[in-house]
Formats: sequence, structure tokens, C-alpha cells
Amino acid sequence: MPELPEVETTKRGLESLIVNQVVEHATLYRDNLRWDMPKHLVTTLANQSIVDINRRGKYLLIKFDVGTLIIHLGMSGSIKVVSSDTPLKKHDHFELILANDTVMRLNDPRRFGAVLFSTDGTHALLDNLGIEPLENDFDETYLYIRSRKKQQNIKAFIMDSKVVVGVGNIYACESLYQAGINPERKASSVSKKRYALLTQCIKTILTQAIKAGGTTLQDFSQVDGSPGYFAQTLSVYGCEGKPCTICNGKISRIIQNQRSTFYCKQCQT
Ligand SMILES: [Zn+2]
Repeated sequence: MPELPEVETTKRGLESLIVNQVVEHATLYRDNLRWDMPKHLVTTLANQSIVDINRRGKYLLIKFDVGTLIIHLGMSGSIKVVSSDTPLKKHDHFELILANDTVMRLNDPRRFGAVLFSTDGTHALLDNLGIEPLENDFDETYLYIRSRKKQQNIKAFIMDSKVVVGVGNIYACESLYQAGINPERKASSVSKKRYALLTQCIKTILTQAIKAGGTTLQDFSQVDGSPGYFAQTLSVYGCEGKPCTICNGKISRIIQNQRSTFYCKQCQT
């Protein structure tokens, strides 16, 4: 599933390929993905110039003078920019044909993704998103204040997108391991000092993932280019029964909020 680093990698890859380009035509190859795709995009986006591209959480925001195209990659989505004579592939559901003879295509086999449009750049889906983890305001004070009255465990707390966006299951497990915090600990019992280490670990892990994703970007505009996914070196996620790299004890797996949590009982307290 595309996580924040893949979406950020996609955004950075698209930036140089589509910003300042003019859309000749938008094509919808089906009516809906997770939700209906707005049919009016065909007329609304024709001959419009792409002003900018941004990311908010896992949403890509492609800005035009007439409004903002909001794209979510769902469970299996990817975006490629290919030359305009490239044949459509199975599961290509949406495209922007650009005046420079390239096409931006959204491919989404499982169709949990979304293509939406907002004339003023706002959207209900964006309203309740928490802070961006790589921004300076995401720090120990931010997490400490918000965690004081929480009954949730620390893992659920940092995965709550109303608190902070983009900390998926893998990143939550890895950052709690690096920070030495037991995932079952109540968020309200974590000290400010430990939150300082945790926010640093989250930032480092996400930044490393974005960097790793960046290395695949050279394939981005190629016909057979794979999306910006990458294999990351994981210390604890998926490592049940394997030796902990710190204490040599065995990594445990438990279920929290219907998701697997991997951690070291000795190192994480
Ligand atoms: Zn350990």
C-alpha cells in the first residue's frame, strides 16, 4: 500500500514532469474508483495549465487556476508519466493528456483510490488531517500536549491521522522500536523526553524512506517504469522470532487494533 513516503516520492517525481504543463484533455476510463470521479473534469481541465503540485497526508493536490485535483492512491494506485503513444494498460483509469506529448496516468488495480476536485482547494477529507510529521511543528510538545488525556496505547496514538498523518503500521513499529518505547504503553504515560526521541525517530525513518524512494525515480517517466515503491531495511517489522539487533532476544508479534505489532519485550519499555 502506498504510504506517505511513496506519495511524497510520487509528488517529487511529478513536479518536474507536469508543473507548468497544459492539459489538452482529461480522460476518465470508468465512472468511479472508491467514489465517483467527477465527469466534469473533461471540460473543466481542458486547456488548463498545471500551476503546482503538493501533498497533504497521502493526498496529492494538483493545482489549477480553476481548482485543485485531489488524488489518493488507495491500496494499489500508482501514477506514471509516459509518452502519449504509450498504449493503455489494464487498470489505467484516469489520465491527463499534456500538450508536450506526454500523459499522466493513474493505474489502480484494486480501485480504492480516488480522483476528486475542489474549486477552492478545500475538501472534507482534508479537514481533519493532523500535522505533517516532517514539519518543524511536529515535536515533543505537540505530542505531549495531545496525549495527556488519551486512553489509547502509544502505537494507536501515533497512527491516528487526526494527530499526525502518514505514520502507517510499518513506520509506527519501526519508530517505537528505535525509540525503545513499548507499543502497549498508554500514550498518556509517555514522558516529554521520550516523545522528543520518538518524534526524531519518526522523522528519520520517513526521511530515509523518501530518500530510498527517490532512487527509483529515474524510472518514473519510462514506459515500463515501476512506481516509486521500494524495499526498506526493516529492523523489527515482519521479524517475529528473529533476533533483536540490539539485545539478541526474540522479536515478538502481538495484535493491536486489528494490526500486527512487532517489538522487542526487552528493549521496549
Ligand atoms: Zn531487544
